[in-house]
Amino acid sequence: MDKRVKEFMDDIKIRNGHEPEFLQAVQEVAETVVPYISEHDIYAGKKILSRIAEPERLISFRVCWVDDSGEVQINRGYRVQMNSAIGPYKGGLRFHPTVNQSVLKFLAFEQVFKNSLTTLPMGGGKGGSDFDPKGKSDDEIMRFCHAFMSELFRHIGHDTDVPAGDIGVGAREVGFLFGMYKKLRNEFTGVLTGKGLSWGGSQIRPEATGYGAVYFADSMLKTKNQTIQGKTILISGSGNVAEYAAEKCIQLGGKVVTMSDSSGYIYDKDGITQEKLDYIKDLKNVKRGRISEYVDVYPSAVFHKGKTPWVEKCDMAFPCATQNELHEEDAKTLVANGCICVTEGANMPSTIEAVAVFHKAKILFAPGKASNAGGVATSGLEMTQNALRYKWTRTEVDEKLKEIMRDIHASCEQYGVEADGYVNYVKGANIAGFVKVADAMLAQGVI
Ligand code: NAP
Repeated sequence: MDKRVKEFMDDIKIRNGHEPEFLQAVQEVAETVVPYISEHDIYAGKKILSRIAEPERLISFRVCWVDDSGEVQINRGYRVQMNSAIGPYKGGLRFHPTVNQSVLKFLAFEQVFKNSLTTLPMGGGKGGSDFDPKGKSDDEIMRFCHAFMSELFRHIGHDTDVPAGDIGVGAREVGFLFGMYKKLRNEFTGVLTGKGLSWGGSQIRPEATGYGAVYFADSMLKTKNQTIQGKTILISGSGNVAEYAAEKCIQLGGKVVTMSDSSGYIYDKDGITQEKLDYIKDLKNVKRGRISEYVDVYPSAVFHKGKTPWVEKCDMAFPCATQNELHEEDAKTLVANGCICVTEGANMPSTIEAVAVFHKAKILFAPGKASNAGGVATSGLEMTQNALRYKWTRTEVDEKLKEIMRDIHASCEQYGVEADGYVNYVKGANIAGFVKVADAMLAQGVI
């Protein structure tokens, strides 16, 4: 590791040594941004990256609710308000048993750079709870969401902090959260994004993260005079991001052969068609079932219990489930099997070692903070429409999303191109995201 990066990380470890996911996210940024800072005098001595790595505010609170059997349940809620230099805090809420301070700080830190890359005026934040929505009734979900918002509402607002969904928080949860916020504040404002279309939501928001990742992949392929048409594609996950990444790949002529959930993955040698994908959407979002049930309906497919899809042969891969789901060995297998393009739909799904393998092989690799920024960008467009009390059409929002993803790709190229012409999108995304936030922090002084 570069000596300057090591010194920087040693300092970060003193205060955050017990937070492995957060340290991983900071290191990944530091490796490219610390050298950039040392080459640019305007940042000298200002400790900008150290300040970005310290949340402006971190709220932790008790969430008590009563389950269907009348028993009192206690969960922990959080909101990490990481950086507001370029706009109100913005970032999703995650409900999953693995949620803790380290996971949310890593996500909030990534969000600062991602939101900056979108070109929209949004700071970075993230929140959530260790609550597990799996196996809960709709009434239990509602009571939990209401209890969660009965504390969170004090800390957010349309000009302060605007949460959205993430793992375990979809349209149903956003509805319950928004309902309680509206009741407590007695106001109808765009305080959450991902709302239903009839009550302030934006066209394309559900699709935006997955579609945006595919638009980004398409831009990367174009630099090699290639397209998605005819490519064999691995996707992990079967939630919001995975479903719409699959949908756009199918629309563009790609052959998607895998999807997964936390119990394993399905491999469909014939390809997942739109009809099969509609079955998965209904299975996961309405019936709340497991991906293994796919093979009962489509018996030519195979379910691999407890495994991830990276062993299958492919041209492209989209990890769209969760952090650290693609390891060094998986990366080596993908490269050996001829994969030419890896686009992260999830946040930090590839470990630092896996990313190093992709870079060494000089394949196209997009980090989530660039390639999954379409979701938050469209949330930004939802905020704009709410503020204007106006609605854009589906085509208008999709066009804006495409343009934003093209712009992010161009920013990554601007800062990420290396001496031999290879575009290091990690470097490009980190530096482009950093510069905008850092310049705003310089202008605002030490606060
Ligand atoms: P989601 O709808 O809740 O789906 C999550 C998917 O990942 C499910 O298939 C889930 O399987 C799987 N998964 C979750 N934890 C897992 C684990 N520990 N191991 C294996 N699989 C796991 O969530 P999402 O909104 O699609 O988010 C997916 C990723 O994209 C996350 O990293 C999120 O931070 C990122 N992201 C989301 C958005 C957005 O707009 N939603 C925007 C940017 C980035 P089960 O059903 O078994 O839990």
